[in-house]
Amino acid sequence: MLVREPLFVVADGMGGAQAGEVASMTAVQAFEGGLPPGDPEEALRDAIGLANRTIHNQAHADASLAGMGTTITAAAVNQEAEAIVIGHVGDSRAYRLRDGILQRLTRDHSLVEEMRRRGQITEAQAEDHPQRSIITRALGPEPEVEADIQSVPSAPGDLFMLCSDGLTTMLGDERIKELLTGATSLEAATNALVDEANRAGGRDNITVVLFLVEDPANPLAAPGEQPTLIAPPRRGPVEDGAVTGVPHKRRTGAIAFRIALGLAVLAVVAGGLFYASRQVWFLGTDSAGRVALYQGLPYELPFGISMYTEKYSTAVQTGKLSTQRQDSVTGHSLRSKNDATSLIEDIETREGI
Ligand code: CA
Repeated sequence: MLVREPLFVVADGMGGAQAGEVASMTAVQAFEGGLPPGDPEEALRDAIGLANRTIHNQAHADASLAGMGTTITAAAVNQEAEAIVIGHVGDSRAYRLRDGILQRLTRDHSLVEEMRRRGQITEAQAEDHPQRSIITRALGPEPEVEADIQSVPSAPGDLFMLCSDGLTTMLGDERIKELLTGATSLEAATNALVDEANRAGGRDNITVVLFLVEDPANPLAAPGEQPTLIAPPRRGPVEDGAVTGVPHKRRTGAIAFRIALGLAVLAVVAGGLFYASRQVWFLGTDSAGRVALYQGLPYELPFGISMYTEKYSTAVQTGKLSTQRQDSVTGHSLRSKNDATSLIEDIETREGI
């Protein structure tokens, strides 16, 4: 994360081994110099685009980083417009608490959120969905990325929160609101959020950044409080917890700790699977029995989610091919894009198409 007033960023990396960490670090570094002058919405869009290209190029230059990606949620204070400009990609979120009402400002780029929007699942099913960590947009996997950018009006007293899904998969919005409104300081609020998400299972790393908008002429801070109302961010628990132990897990013993760790790994695998699936291609047979080219993995997940998309279908019937050729289509071997494309071109040429 980056906390450098007037700019705040949360990035939640994913990808094998250390790659996710490299991706999120690179995303955050892209904001270290602040935003360029000019229209803040355009500046934020450009900064996210630049971060995306940097991660994408890194992933291509180093095989150990292939397929890495990260979410990003960035907030920049636009003092002139009395607004907070928010840009995001992925499932890290931004919220605003005003007059006791907590409003979610971002819409997750996730498979589950898309299903919810299409009415395929309910809000309650979405909150509990096994595939909720699969995101549909991220920085890194593609050379270009579309960020959602918006300006949210801000007034003294507004509390803004940026957070990774490690918080929101563990705590519902109602509980988050209670903890925010019940806390006596921003630091106490971040502590309460992270601690309770850990108590609820802490299946993923948790990053929370809070900032409060104040009127410079009439500061909201209580006497004796730091003039800056930006809480020191807290992280937990996967990497940190694995080494130092998270208090509640120490109390509940080794078995609880192992289970929590196992679930954390599952979440990482599910996230990683989406990226991995974008890198591979295979040949198969479409619903009309024709040889077709697919991007992704030849698997179907529960709830009718496929890990592949059809990219091209030929006029060649799989059943008319020689046995050896048929095997190359029905075996669903994973191939590079070039390999899969040249094989399908070869089949078309031989069949006279
Ligand atoms: Ca996460």
